[in-house]
Amino acid sequence: MQILIKGLQDERFHRPLRLIANLFFEESEVILTDNGDCYDITVDFTLEISEKVKVEASLTDEEGNIFKANAEKILPITEIEKESFKVVKNAVSYVYLTVLQEKTGMIQKWGFLTGIRPTKLLHKYMQQGVPKEIAHKQLKEDYLITDEKIDLMQRIVDRQLAVVPDLYELGKEVSIYIGIPFCPTKCAYCTFPAYAINGRQGSVDSFLGGLHFEMKKIGEWLKKNNVKITTVYYGGGTPTSITAEEMDMLYEEMYASFPDVENIREVTVEAGRPDTITPEKLDVLKKWNIDRISINPQSYIQETLKAIGRHHTVEETINKYHLARSMGMNNINMDLIIGLPGEGVPEFTYTLNETEKLMPESLTVHTLSFKRASEMTKNKEKYKVASRTEIEDMMSLAEQWTKDHDYSPYYLYRQKNILGNLENVGYSLPNQESIYNIMIMEEQQTIIGLGCGAASKFVDPETGKITHFANPKDPKSYNDGFEAYTEDKIKILNELFTKEKLVKE
Ligand code: SF4
Repeated sequence: MQILIKGLQDERFHRPLRLIANLFFEESEVILTDNGDCYDITVDFTLEISEKVKVEASLTDEEGNIFKANAEKILPITEIEKESFKVVKNAVSYVYLTVLQEKTGMIQKWGFLTGIRPTKLLHKYMQQGVPKEIAHKQLKEDYLITDEKIDLMQRIVDRQLAVVPDLYELGKEVSIYIGIPFCPTKCAYCTFPAYAINGRQGSVDSFLGGLHFEMKKIGEWLKKNNVKITTVYYGGGTPTSITAEEMDMLYEEMYASFPDVENIREVTVEAGRPDTITPEKLDVLKKWNIDRISINPQSYIQETLKAIGRHHTVEETINKYHLARSMGMNNINMDLIIGLPGEGVPEFTYTLNETEKLMPESLTVHTLSFKRASEMTKNKEKYKVASRTEIEDMMSLAEQWTKDHDYSPYYLYRQKNILGNLENVGYSLPNQESIYNIMIMEEQQTIIGLGCGAASKFVDPETGKITHFANPKDPKSYNDGFEAYTEDKIKILNELFTKEKLVKE
């Protein structure tokens, strides 16, 4: 699908217009300069900028049908060109989405919002004390988000504030993410730092050496500066792919190095791959009071697991779940993915029926995303995936099923190239929400990433400004540079937390 845009020469329009076109058409190309080629669609813009921005768009399709829309927005009084351009860009996006919706008959439930964290927008209004109705109206006017999605956002925000009533004050604390970059085998859709563990003991040993170092140093800094930890999350990879002894030493390090571990609100360990779970490892998790684990079926269809390279059986997931339960794990999360290759409504219904037999405390429903670096994306033609409408039907099934079983949505995020342009939603039974997931999504506090591929997000406690810092993804580079990465992070922490005078000298 070739789309010619007339009347907008500024190159900065190209990206948003392309992203919006991708919501409607599988393969689309947006062209700002007419080369005299044949185009499937032409959109003619008229843009007038004074104290207001007035935009008109007229779309002409292959058959000569014409669709028109216009918008008018007040420009903010600001010296910052970027801010006023954002208003212009949104006005252009508004009319562009409107004409494309009319032409295709497709309604984009998230409007032209392509960002990852929609609920952050609503939190911003709530923090400023804007009444709900006005905030909702604004979201609709600014992004064309549908009532259905605004309602979902509100329910999530309400749930989050019920679970973490001091959410807006947690900027003075931090959470910790610990990345263990190993897995038994690599799944086809995976872009996480995950290296098949077999035959790599040398690299595991040196990696853990670096990780213990980082934990010690960061823990020392937190203790010295009296900064509390809200939550700790072990992810990866699969943190249970290391041995029970290695896990034991790691949690011992956490208790020895981190401040006030007994009062950390939540410690989660992802045990995503059932093939890594053993009674010995569950004993270790119990010994160190790990609150929450994740065992991820993704699907209960054996053929699907094989096709995506997970190398474990459905039976194993169910057995390991029961084993974890019998050994006292009482907050288990399970991840499911909608739209895995070869799966449609009947397969997903089967997966939900199987989930009903287990009733984990929380359930995260992902929609398959074609991330650039995954094996699945590189060989897209090999994998047969469901149509957009079928994806939507599966999503509705998940919504209905969770509602019927007393689960509520409590966090959501969106990704680029996600099937059907939908979202990933975390559901939980009452009061079993993961606080870490809320912290990472809403970006109210600093998350310090330790280990391989761990991304740190430093949130200025005063301004909310975010600074990113990433540890390398591969164990070799990590092993070569962990001391320097730790130092860099401590430098950023010093800048942020001493400026706010949160630090007791
Ligand atoms: S288990 Fe998770 S982290 Fe490991 S390879 Fe599969 S998707 Fe990636």
